[in-house]
Amino acid sequence: MDRALDRPLIAVVEDNEDNCVLLHALLDEQYHLVVYTNGPEALERLRHDRPALVLLDVSLPGMDGLEVLRRLRASPTTRDLPVIALTAHAMAGDRERILAEGFDDYLSKPILDEHLLFAAVARLLVRSGPGGAQA
Ligand code: MN
Repeated sequence: MDRALDRPLIAVVEDNEDNCVLLHALLDEQYHLVVYTNGPEALERLRHDRPALVLLDVSLPGMDGLEVLRRLRASPTTRDLPVIALTAHAMAGDRERILAEGFDDYLSKPILDEHLLFAAVARLLVRSGPGGAQA
């Protein structure tokens, strides 16, 4: 029996390998991670994989994270997926701009405080759980 099935599935859309390694190290114990390295791959596979949550890098080569989010929100299948933005742009006003785009939360990279990550993930998983956002 695959133990991974017992854990909530989190999709990570991230082109930076170091950050993927870090996210695996922080989240593998409690969650099952699937990683996509670009927007088109993520959009194709998210419809089938149906994760409980998405961690989406804003700065992706080709199609950026903002466009990926717009397309997720435009599809009935993925519209209600909780999505946390990951961005290296730690500039004033960015948080407001990112949330205004429709992300559910925001984490700046590098992730220096894993508790912020754990808290954001747990908060959104509660909301998307059985009887959650789509009830
Ligand atoms: Mn990136």
